[in-house]
Amino acid sequence: MSNEKQQGFDTVCIRGGHQSESNRAHLTPVYASSTYTFDTAEQSIAVFKGDEKGYIYGRWGNPTITEAEEKIAMLEAYGIKNSHGAPLQLKAILHASGMAAVTTMLLANVRAGQKIITHRSLYGGTHELVEKILPGLGIEAIIMDFHDPNRVEDALRADSSIALMYLETPANPTLQCVDLDALSALGKSYGLTVCVDNTFATPYLQQPFRYDVDYVMHSTTKFLNGHGTAIGGVVLGKDIEKMNGPVTKMHRLLGGNSNAFDAFLLTNGLRTLGLRMDRHCSNAQRVAEFLARHNEVAVVNYAGLPTHPDHDLAMRQMKNGGALMSFELKGGFDAGVGFINKMKLCTNAVSLGTCDTLVSHPASTTHMGVSREQRIASGITDGLIRMSVGLENVEDIIADLEQAI
Ligand SMILES: *Cc1c(COP(=O)(O)O)cnc(C)c1O
Repeated sequence: MSNEKQQGFDTVCIRGGHQSESNRAHLTPVYASSTYTFDTAEQSIAVFKGDEKGYIYGRWGNPTITEAEEKIAMLEAYGIKNSHGAPLQLKAILHASGMAAVTTMLLANVRAGQKIITHRSLYGGTHELVEKILPGLGIEAIIMDFHDPNRVEDALRADSSIALMYLETPANPTLQCVDLDALSALGKSYGLTVCVDNTFATPYLQQPFRYDVDYVMHSTTKFLNGHGTAIGGVVLGKDIEKMNGPVTKMHRLLGGNSNAFDAFLLTNGLRTLGLRMDRHCSNAQRVAEFLARHNEVAVVNYAGLPTHPDHDLAMRQMKNGGALMSFELKGGFDAGVGFINKMKLCTNAVSLGTCDTLVSHPASTTHMGVSREQRIASGITDGLIRMSVGLENVEDIIADLEQAI
């Protein structure tokens, strides 16, 4: 196997993880069955002991889910060698949502009395989980600026109860990036478990396992599904024993499992991941350049623009700038509301990673309940517009922005 030629990324997107099916269906069907049968008592014993492969109960997995899991594992490990020079093997566990995946991963790796170290600008749900829920379970978080590794090291040196480092890059609202190489190395040198939320970049643009991290999570709701048809999440790990042991245990007992229909939709979306990401990114680059030249736009936050503070880092660890950006209208809050109302093509919705361009004005929607002071401190200014650039012809996206601004 190891001297077989590595297939291309798109080939793995299309064919990876597919198993032939007993009725010769071309695509793996939606296995709408909550439980699985055994021919004999001996067979059920063998499957329960793990001596024979087989499915037992839907919360633990099914063939439609397995295909999506194996495809994502192959993509996230794509082209990476382990420390023995062999292709990296990953195990993926699909979940009901990105939040379910994050919860399983965290609770399987930290216990009461231990701490998590992480940075600002995490996904809102993750931030709340870490700040409001986990402390009640005895798990505290240290949330700090991760741009200066020396300060992170000071924090690690000062507190031996820190067990896990949690990273998300790039991240909302300003597409801030953190240094995967430096921070993973630092975390590992202090014996930490290092985890990365790779939702914004996808394995097509960024592969955190190249930097020896322990876990990667995704909200598959976004680019991996790509069509906005299902909520989902995935945890990937390279320590297969741990994945089969405590992580699987936590997944099964918390009950945040995926289901066959959502997994089917996810597999279908994954087939075009590479193609879609290329178009998402080339469109985003053009849109960012257009906005950067516009008189009514004060700032464009896009990692693919040389003016972005983390541009060099983004270019080191990502294939290109990605599909997400935000920009600030000079006219402030009223200009933001007016812009949303004038859009004709782009969709006014939260979320990201769908075929259509999604645009939102956080100050009047997601962050309306946050005090203005706090909101601005986290980078969400009055006139800030968030955009997930879609796959439409870029001229049409730009024309819509032009008339709406
Ligand atoms: C959406 C998102 C999540 C949460 O995923 P859900 O599928 O909505 O539960 C986590 N992290 C990032 C970066 C996200 O964009």
